[in-house]
Amino acid sequence: MLLQGRTAAISGAASARGIGRATAKLFAEHGARVAILDLDEAGAKAAAAELGPQHVGIGCDVTDPASCKAAADAVLAAFGQCDILLNNAGITQPLKLMEIGPENWGKVLDVNLSGVLYLSQAFVPHMKERRRGSIACMSSVSAQRGGGIFGGPHYSAAKAGVLGLAKAMARELGPFGIRVNCVTPGLIQTDITGGKLTDEMRVEIRKGIPLDRLGEASDVAGCYLFLASDLSAYVTGAVIDVNGGMLI
Ligand code: NAD
Repeated sequence: MLLQGRTAAISGAASARGIGRATAKLFAEHGARVAILDLDEAGAKAAAAELGPQHVGIGCDVTDPASCKAAADAVLAAFGQCDILLNNAGITQPLKLMEIGPENWGKVLDVNLSGVLYLSQAFVPHMKERRRGSIACMSSVSAQRGGGIFGGPHYSAAKAGVLGLAKAMARELGPFGIRVNCVTPGLIQTDITGGKLTDEMRVEIRKGIPLDRLGEASDVAGCYLFLASDLSAYVTGAVIDVNGGMLI
């Protein structure tokens, strides 16, 4: 029970096979009360109900500062406090450089990068007041390698931006007792990826992964748990790869 008595807000945690959802389940198993924040409000409420009555599902569009503020207010009204924020929501578009128009660029940057800023801004005043908090932000191996199978250059740029933003936040918020870290997963089998992989693609991808398998949502959830808990009390500004050794 690593999160007994703690409360957590997790964005992008409604999707059934997603990383956020698996993390919400793991956090609940470790004693946390969890707020599932998602664009899909009905999905967020259903996911929270599945976890149990002490958890809440809240509609939230991370690209809209007012929606983020309203979601943070709702979390604090429900729980009275928030110890952990996971900026997990994200989208991707499998486009090549010359296919990216201003609309694609705006949308992918908005959700993956601006969303981290807006949702953090909504929770940080409360965390500062309590002089405690752990924020973890979702980046990607796409930021480190300049692309992946499903993410275009705009996705790589957004996820690389998350690394810079999170480190700057870690520097500024450390004196207030707030830790900020990033996870950089490799290929994790979720709705974003899993359904679109052919058997041939799986074989080819595994050749580049020393642990010889694709990742599961639970692999990333375990890393988020470490970053959210006191086990990582002296870790801030860190980037943790969860990729089976893809970058070795
Ligand atoms: P997913 O599609 O299962 O989950 C994404 C969730 O984000 C969904 O529930 C969706 O409704 C929500 N969402 C989308 N736009 C939103 C918005 N504007 N406001 C609030 N919520 C919104 O995908 P996943 O694979 O679980 O992805 C979770 C995160 O992990 C994303 O940031 C993704 O970029 C990142 N990531 C995934 C992989 C992978 O291989 N699956 C690898 C590296 C990083």
